[in-house]
Amino acid sequence: MSPSRHLPVGPGRVVAVFFKALDEGGRVLDSSDRLGHKPLVFLFGSHSVLPGLEKLLEGKRKDDFVSGVVAPEDAYGLRTPKLVEVLRRDKIPVQGELKPGMRLDGYDPQGRRMSALITAVEGDEVTIDRNHPLAGRSIRFEVTIAGVREATPEELDHGHPHGPGGHRH
Ligand code: ZN
Repeated sequence: MSPSRHLPVGPGRVVAVFFKALDEGGRVLDSSDRLGHKPLVFLFGSHSVLPGLEKLLEGKRKDDFVSGVVAPEDAYGLRTPKLVEVLRRDKIPVQGELKPGMRLDGYDPQGRRMSALITAVEGDEVTIDRNHPLAGRSIRFEVTIAGVREATPEELDHGHPHGPGGHRH
């Protein structure tokens, strides 16, 4: 049997992968293990996985092992200095003492979603960093492709896969 009987990964196809995402130091950031020995299933081109991961996988086939490093621009983006802000303590709707290293997850007084890391606390001034925790970082992926199939018209319409590992309506 020729391996070419398998469909290559590409736009409009549903791809199942077992994966590990590692930082520059080899620490595991994420992995399909969290799904309980089930692969991650996604619709290629639907922006549900990192663009750099799609680039690594495009053209590969079932049972291929793929590894490579994705640059920050194709992962969580570069760090944006203007996302580091100094706020007055009373602008942060969190009870109790604030300390550097704490994460804030919730809503600010304007009702905007807020996910930030406190990087400094000086008197009444709190410095928060709203950059994604992985902004500016390269990510190594180690991926085994578990399956590739054509998406159904309904899946393409919805922008996500159905069936095992996909959306249930
Ligand atoms: Zn759907």
